[in-house]
Amino acid sequence: MAYQAVIGLEVHLQLRTRTKIFSACPADYHGAEPNTFTDPFTLGLPGALPTLNREAVELAMMFGLGLNCDVSGFTQFHRKNYFYPDAPKNFQLSQYDRPIARDGYLDVAGERVRIKRAHLEDDAGKLLHPTYAPYSLLDLNRAGSALIEMVTEADITGAEQARAFLESVQAIAQALGVSDATPEEGKMRCDVNVSVHKPGEPWGTKVEVKNLNSFRSVARAIEYETARQARVLDGGGRITQDTLGWDEGGQKTFLMRTKEGEADYRYFPEPDLPPLDITPEWIAQVRARMPELPAQKRERYLAAGLRAADAQLLSHDVALSRFYDEALGTAPAPEAQKLANWLLSDVTGALAAQEKTLADSALKPAHLAALVRLIDAGTIGGRVAKDLLGDVLAGHDPEVLVQERGLGVVTDTGAIDAAIDAAMQADPATVEKVRAGNAKAMNALFGPVMKATGGQAKPDVVRARLQAKLGL
Ligand code: ADP
Ligand code: MG
Repeated sequence: MAYQAVIGLEVHLQLRTRTKIFSACPADYHGAEPNTFTDPFTLGLPGALPTLNREAVELAMMFGLGLNCDVSGFTQFHRKNYFYPDAPKNFQLSQYDRPIARDGYLDVAGERVRIKRAHLEDDAGKLLHPTYAPYSLLDLNRAGSALIEMVTEADITGAEQARAFLESVQAIAQALGVSDATPEEGKMRCDVNVSVHKPGEPWGTKVEVKNLNSFRSVARAIEYETARQARVLDGGGRITQDTLGWDEGGQKTFLMRTKEGEADYRYFPEPDLPPLDITPEWIAQVRARMPELPAQKRERYLAAGLRAADAQLLSHDVALSRFYDEALGTAPAPEAQKLANWLLSDVTGALAAQEKTLADSALKPAHLAALVRLIDAGTIGGRVAKDLLGDVLAGHDPEVLVQERGLGVVTDTGAIDAAIDAAMQADPATVEKVRAGNAKAMNALFGPVMKATGGQAKPDVVRARLQAKLGL
């Protein structure tokens, strides 16, 4: 009989605060020289006292609300005591029995994943182990930056669902501006808890796999652990409640340590920080500032007539959807699905070929909208539009390009009629054939007319005028 997997996720997100969570030390240390973003509190100097960062609290509230959590009432910080060189205070300021957000959920692809809690805490510094030296180096720039840790109930049943859930959390954090949520920069870090059991039997013992730095690794670790645990159990073995690491090179888990108990941390309420009472008024203020969530965005796009896959893609990408909304907001609004097609395939493809993103391209939303409008109005055809795209991506206004280059389709029937007259005069034999009843012979005149108008006449207009002139 096959095993079922039971999975719970713990996700750390670095909050997008200007300063660290418990001091006025600037938090924008990414790319900076080691140990240049520190202050007495970050360094754990004796006597330095914490002050809670209001921005961190409000971002956490917003994130909690985005995950349908209860963020109201009493919340406080506890000291989580442990000794490690990257944590100079010798404790982490975290939340224990009264986290800021509780009892939420997220519906992902029609399945509900309950969210147990999300709490605020400070991050540790970083130890570096250079290969050239018999010692380790310590960088405390990251120490004290604001983290939110979110913990799910063990409602997830497989690798794909875990990945979809993480993508959804990432999209929410980015849409709310709560966190950059970029795993590759360490601003979103995941631990997974996995156990297996047979249907109808009690849950198995879980292991925790730590420090997975991509969604792909999360999925692979789940697949690996599910298979490994099944193998151990089938071989008559037992699963021990261990903390494992993920070996990216070998694509397998390895034992880091056996699980420490909660009592080891000697949690106690932080005496230097007052508890908070989050009032309904405060929640209302934060809620009023909340940008549109991905799920709301998706609904709006579906209502505008976008295909489901495009609505999903756009609603999960802040930069793309911001660009799209701006283009759609120009007057007169371009056709929603056509605009999406251009943005999601032509533009995205062309930018990818240039190894660029929307952010570092010169493309303006109004210009993409104008390009789509030019096609919609029949001023240019799709082929001309594609030819123009390179210059539009480089920042040029397609309307100006069409004018400067004389690219507009000739819809002026005067010019078309003149070309038809000339073609008929130049080829009396064909005219004779058509008049004698051979309607198909008209095609011989079509080419010269198109040529005379520089290929910019609308073919169906040319055809209609030719038919009229020839009495067909
Ligand atoms: P711990 O005290 O070990 O940290 P928690 O109760 O805080 O455990 O849960 C940590 C994570 O492990 C949560 O995401 C939870 O849903 C998940 N979890 C709990 N029990 C199991 C289990 N038997 N199998 C898989 N995941 C589990
Ligand atoms: Mg825990």
